[in-house]
Amino acid sequence: MFRKILIANRGEIAVRILRACRELGIRSAAVFSEVDRKSLHVRLADEAYPIGPAPSRESYLRVDKIMDVARRSGCDAVHPGYGFLAENAALPRACAETGITFIGPSAEAMEALGSKTAGRQLARRSDVPTVPGANDPIENPEDAQALAQNMGYPVLLKAVAGGGGKGMRVVTRDAEFAPAWRDASSEALNAFGDSRLYLEKYLEKPRHIEIQILADTHGRVVSLGERECSVQRRHQKVIEEAPSLVINPEVRKKMGDAAVRLARAGGYVNAGTVEFLVDAHLNFYFLEVNTRLQVEHPVTEQVTGLDLVKLQIAIAAGHRLPFAWETITPRGHAMEVRLYAEDPDNNFFPSPGKIVSRHAPSGPGIRLDEGVYEGWTVPMDYDPLLSKLIAWGNSREETIARLRRALEEYTVTGIKTNAGLFRRILSEPDFLRGEIHTKWLDELLHRSPAAASTLHESANSDRAANAAAIAAALWHAKQSDEHCGPSSSGQDSSQILRWKREGRRQQLDRLT
Ligand code: ADP
Repeated sequence: MFRKILIANRGEIAVRILRACRELGIRSAAVFSEVDRKSLHVRLADEAYPIGPAPSRESYLRVDKIMDVARRSGCDAVHPGYGFLAENAALPRACAETGITFIGPSAEAMEALGSKTAGRQLARRSDVPTVPGANDPIENPEDAQALAQNMGYPVLLKAVAGGGGKGMRVVTRDAEFAPAWRDASSEALNAFGDSRLYLEKYLEKPRHIEIQILADTHGRVVSLGERECSVQRRHQKVIEEAPSLVINPEVRKKMGDAAVRLARAGGYVNAGTVEFLVDAHLNFYFLEVNTRLQVEHPVTEQVTGLDLVKLQIAIAAGHRLPFAWETITPRGHAMEVRLYAEDPDNNFFPSPGKIVSRHAPSGPGIRLDEGVYEGWTVPMDYDPLLSKLIAWGNSREETIARLRRALEEYTVTGIKTNAGLFRRILSEPDFLRGEIHTKWLDELLHRSPAAASTLHESANSDRAANAAAIAAALWHAKQSDEHCGPSSSGQDSSQILRWKREGRRQQLDRLT
């Protein structure tokens, strides 16, 4: 096992990783830019090293500085978190050259699966259905337009190096093509230093459903089931949940098998996510592979009882995964909301500044992953994600009730947050029924933007949700003599639990 891990990241994910290190008895080394000197990850890490000025291209994006700290501090592994260098093959390559373990896939697997077009090509070769469209970057707008005309509008121009919904433009007719191409390629160049584009057929109102996979170095690749991330604002996830309301065991198995096939074909090792769009008939189409831990990994942790960060570390250290796909049955329901320092009444513009006071929610079924504290100043230089509020319950209704309760407890002064938006979404009848798709939230905000930050008092849906939550709690209480499972908190990786169904009875087995 490793002695010391360098965490090449900041914010909530750096805190999440160093907590896993501490529980495993591994020392953690943090890095920080000038503006992050007082950040929570610096306070909590065993050691912390400065890596330069605030702009990330001069600090968190500098492979040379990260590797210099890794060497000087005597780290034997590097965890990249998500964002920054997490999907940059230069980091695993530099690690391999210095004999330091990268906690993630190899540079080759990252390249084979990480780019959207390379991923599509591998998906096609692996018999995984893809969204119709180009499989290579398209050289010039004329060729792209000809392809769009051939496929029929609407189409979506996408950055080959895309991420976070950037470098993407929907085109509905010929006249829009040239300006959309210009905007998408310049946005892609700014965001990724790579202006290359390709295009896909734009699917109307799909759901975004993704499969979490784990792959060890001994050839075992497992699917941990799905997360649904259909509540999005401008192609960016804002709420994630597991399991999906629409996925049945048969489709879950098919999607899991497809994800595992693709990971095998790409020689993938460690944690990764295969993203799909799913239509109303439950046909699924490959979207992309994220070759790293995802922001929304906690919802999978809550329903499986696994600790994905510890498993990432164990895999990187050469351990075998001690379970197979068949033994993993999701238990209960989990949901995550991403709390950002942003102003919902000003087009969700970032709202950095000093957190004057705050109250963090807690209580049954609530988990808060965050990198902030009272008195800390949210810098303007990075993604303004403050906290991930995750709820877990026996049913979706109970989970939503807990999340709503926790959001009522949550207060922050000094900065604006998007908490009000979640209070509203969690009261929307469509959301409560699970009738959502990737454009659902944009359409809702388009219909009534003024209410974005206010608590939407939908008395009927509140009452319906409450009645359902009571019914669910009673049902689970009745089943309690037949039911046992892990606590809602993550399990140690050496105590991975599995459930076996024997008739109606669930039994708990402990694997060592
Ligand atoms: P990024 O890497 O920038 O996040 P993705 O390819 O993962 O981009 O897509 C992000 C979101 O954009 C999807 O969840 C979906 O809402 C939307 N999207 C992407 N491709 C399509 C498509 N072909 N048709 C409809 N929506 C799409």
